[in-house]
Amino acid sequence: MAEAHGVGRKLNVIWFKRDFRVNDHKALQQACMDANKRGIAVVALYAIEEAYWQLPDTSTRQWGFIVESLKALHAELANLNIALHIGCGKADDLLSIIHQQTKITALYSHEETGNEWTFQRDIDVSKWCKRHGITWHEYRQFGVKRRLSNRDDWLKHYQAIIDTPIATPASAQKTLRDLQLPTSKINIARGYDHTPAPQRQHGGRGAGDALLNKFISQNLPSYLKTIGSPAKAAEFSSRLSPYLAYGCISMKEVIRRLEAVDQHKRQRNAFRSRLYWHCHFIQKLEDEPSLARQAMHPQLDDALKRRFDDAVFQKWATGNTGVPWVDACMRSLIAMGWLNFRMRAMLTSFATYHLWLPWQPVGEHLARLFVDYEPGIHWSQIQMQSGVTGINPNRMYNPVQQGQKYDPAAHFIKRWIPELAHLPAVICHQPWLGGHYITPVIDPVIGARQARAKLKAAEVDRSISRRVYQKHGSRRRQPKRKSSNTKQPDLFSE
Ligand SMILES: Cc1cc2nc3c(=O)[nH]c(=O)nc-3n(C[C@H](O)[C@H](O)[C@H](O)COP(=O)(O)OP(=O)(O)OC[C@H]3O[C@@H](n4cnc5c(N)ncnc54)[C@H](O)[C@@H]3O)c2cc1C
Repeated sequence: MAEAHGVGRKLNVIWFKRDFRVNDHKALQQACMDANKRGIAVVALYAIEEAYWQLPDTSTRQWGFIVESLKALHAELANLNIALHIGCGKADDLLSIIHQQTKITALYSHEETGNEWTFQRDIDVSKWCKRHGITWHEYRQFGVKRRLSNRDDWLKHYQAIIDTPIATPASAQKTLRDLQLPTSKINIARGYDHTPAPQRQHGGRGAGDALLNKFISQNLPSYLKTIGSPAKAAEFSSRLSPYLAYGCISMKEVIRRLEAVDQHKRQRNAFRSRLYWHCHFIQKLEDEPSLARQAMHPQLDDALKRRFDDAVFQKWATGNTGVPWVDACMRSLIAMGWLNFRMRAMLTSFATYHLWLPWQPVGEHLARLFVDYEPGIHWSQIQMQSGVTGINPNRMYNPVQQGQKYDPAAHFIKRWIPELAHLPAVICHQPWLGGHYITPVIDPVIGARQARAKLKAAEVDRSISRRVYQKHGSRRRQPKRKSSNTKQPDLFSE
């Protein structure tokens, strides 16, 4: 395979962001086809953006997953004769550096719905491209629709992208291996989460592919029976979330594999719904990039008057609240970088209802702990589970009952809180009844009662709730609905 040489070289750049794969990668396919037609080179770019890694929602464990995914991507791209260049710096600065060395003809990437920082970064890249007369080709990779004018039409846009054929990888006739990019070692986790998550999932296409195979061929029949329990879900749920979040595997690839299964209809449909929710939630952040700091229903959020208490926050954040089920879930998350849906919701609800902490620092802490941090899902869920959307029912969990239901023999509690290992299960769930453990930061029953009273006292402007529903509400079960009833489908049907 050829390498382009000499002055006057031209090239197409594929910019990888959260799409570490070559399969079903429309941007890669198109960049190669266009370049091969024009006889120009193709390179791949990944920008390590220091400012991004200083943000309070990013962490070492996410970076670790990315490094592994980049290694796998490097090998896959080499098979297609595409050199992967990894540089340290803002994407538009790196593009400038490349452009000085070799004229960029066009930029190719997937659309990204990230946090507010990446939103602004993409605006900067877009301006840079315009200034330099470079076309930026962006492709959808999820059901998310950019510049959606009306939520009523969303399903149509969702289905359109899901139905498009899988893009097969194309190889480049020419590439460039001699580009020079700054590679100074950057300090990824400056002050936030340095914990390495010793039991976290590892990045890369191969690992994602193996999980998908295992889930479809072995675990699907047990899916609904197991997803409520954090221990069983760790084994039987798909665990595909980080591979979808970083694009090691594409949403369409997962859906196509699922469509090929003709048994286990209930389980299949339940799993398929989650894949749909993935895009539904990310669409909310696409439509409102400020969701990590501003509530969908700001008036309701103000009326709740939550207060930050650092000592209480630290107890929750480190798994030392004295409520064993909360602490076991948090300690397991700290070690594994993953937790099942129900217990993510329970941790959020305990922090924001029982402890009455503001949802933003709670969400940032959880974001850092999740290897699969996907801003659109995450912030929509955090807002939902802390009751600031104005369109979802307030759901408060009793952490003792949750533990008793999903871990009756207290195996999970004993695994993550070894100081309780010698106690009978009944005491493990409520050590205040006769064991020795940290004094609870709050009695869960009293905490819930106080929270309900505060919720009742907060006045809600229903006209704002209606606007939130118009903008963000799911229309899945009520396609052409026009009424102002804002009831949302329940995510807890398992
Ligand atoms: C407070 C909170 C924060 C969350 N933050 C994230 C996050 O940052 N990243 C993330 O991927 N998921 C997040 N979720 C959703 C969900 O908990 C995880 O997707 C799921 O636990 C991942 O495990 P799995 O891959 O085995 O899921 P499966 O049950 O096997 O589902 C398959 C895929 O569907 C998607 N999915 C599953 N459940 C949901 C859901 N309720 N909403 C939207 N998409 C869903 C995910 O991509 C998941 O990988 C959050 C949930 C809550 C309550």
